[in-house]
Amino acid sequence: MLKFTDTPQQYPDVKAAESRKKDFNEIYAQFDPAQASVQASRCSQCGVPFCQIHCPLQNNIPDWLKLTAEGRLEEAYAISSATNTFPEICGRICPQDRLCEGNCVIEKGFDSVTIGSVERYITENAFANGWVKPIKVTQETGISIGIIGSGPAGLAAADMLRRKGHEVHVYDRYDRVGGLLIYGIPNFKLEKEIVARRHQLLAEGGIYFHLNYEVKDIAELKEKHDAVLIATGVYKPKEIQIPDYSLANIIQALDYLTASNRKGLGDRVANYENGMLNAEGKEIVVIGGGDTAMDCVRTAVRQGARSVTCLYRRNEENMPGSKREVKNAMEEGVKFMWLSAPKAFAGNGYVSQVLVQQMRLISHDASGRQSVVPVEGETFSIPCDLAIKALGFEPEDLPTLFNAPELGLSKYGTVHVDSKSFATSLEGVFAAGDIVRGASLVVWAIKDGRDAAAAMHRYVMSQHTKSKAA
Ligand code: FAD
Ligand code: SF4
Ligand code: SF4
Repeated sequence: MLKFTDTPQQYPDVKAAESRKKDFNEIYAQFDPAQASVQASRCSQCGVPFCQIHCPLQNNIPDWLKLTAEGRLEEAYAISSATNTFPEICGRICPQDRLCEGNCVIEKGFDSVTIGSVERYITENAFANGWVKPIKVTQETGISIGIIGSGPAGLAAADMLRRKGHEVHVYDRYDRVGGLLIYGIPNFKLEKEIVARRHQLLAEGGIYFHLNYEVKDIAELKEKHDAVLIATGVYKPKEIQIPDYSLANIIQALDYLTASNRKGLGDRVANYENGMLNAEGKEIVVIGGGDTAMDCVRTAVRQGARSVTCLYRRNEENMPGSKREVKNAMEEGVKFMWLSAPKAFAGNGYVSQVLVQQMRLISHDASGRQSVVPVEGETFSIPCDLAIKALGFEPEDLPTLFNAPELGLSKYGTVHVDSKSFATSLEGVFAAGDIVRGASLVVWAIKDGRDAAAAMHRYVMSQHTKSKAA
């Protein structure tokens, strides 16, 4: 260990922009065994590992780095998978620059340990060696759990609860398992086989999946199961109210990304084939500066757009998304217009121009980022055949959706839960993931799903003991 003094930081190879633009495959290669060992050996085994503190799952990073450096990969996998249900997914798509790697306190002047890439390597190596096995239950409890939503929160909870011997049923309105892992995040960040492989393992471990099943009444599931978890994510797009925003060819980011992901999975997608959700040959304007906006611009590049412009009302330093994704987008030819906000759309039935308002930075707001105000009289128009709105998400009207007026909500409209027990205001009903936290990250959804599962296990076991005693 401690090799950081003579071994430079190295990330896995990344495909050159010109070649990666031609397909939707992942752009980063994987470490080979020697690279993984050498990069892991750069860790200085801190007494107080800030990397671990800033990983939402509190992964035991120094230990699995040491084991990887020593070639003890089966043990490294055992430690890494003890705290993370999907380490190969987090290794690929966590914003490591804001989490573990961004807080690696290797000596000043040296670059951080490449934690995410090593985590991915450990798990891919474990899959290749057959060390990742389906859950084997030795004793069934006879307790039944219903989970609404098969995104990372629902799946992490399902995995933990099945390991306890409960019968677990996961319901999802979609036809595939994975939530935003499958229909939101593009293939070039996370190949869909990685998610499908996990679905298969969980099914082999005895978890029942009910797909194309939209839960509209929570009471229906409460009758069937001893406890229910709501892990339905947030999907209502935030809107901009500017003139002519209802013109055709102004679309929502998630509709666009879902169509692209479905196409990649081999589905027939009418609105892709008729051109409505397809950027090919068009001048694309994406509005927003977060990770979803970056996914849209990079998808448009791969679909063969004539030009792709990202409009963002603040400047580059104040962008909320991952710096790595912005860099990738720039390399792929996306044009960024900073301090630019849409003021109006124009066109005859279909949008053909976006009127842009120039902005300027003023003081910092509550989020720590600088606010902006319009620069009087500074507007200009840019051509646009397809405008994609990527302004973030919020929850739907949940009590109406689940026919449960007594379901308590937070002031943000998300489901309110007790922070320790994950219990909602409905007896026996719990909630986790984006539907509680608001739009967040996969790693937080996994963390919440795991913690909610532990709380649900305590709840069902105590109910079980009470009913036996009665
Ligand atoms: P979801 O993943 O949204 O899953 C919820 C599931 O519930 C869905 O499958 C949905 O169909 C189902 N459902 C909803 N209502 C019902 C109902 N009534 N009945 C049955 N099923 C229902 N995070 C990262 O860490 N890294 C990234 O790179 C990243 N990129 C992203 C890119 C995009 C475009 C988006 C939109 C998000 C991205 N995120 C990323 C955020 C991340 O995907 C989410 O934080 C995470 O998926 C939330 O997990 P979840 O399980 O709470 O919800
Ligand atoms: Fe880093 Fe994410 Fe892995 Fe935690 S889960 S170690 S934050 S990549
Ligand atoms: Fe190793 Fe960096 Fe974590 Fe310290 S902070 S234990 S150097 S990875």
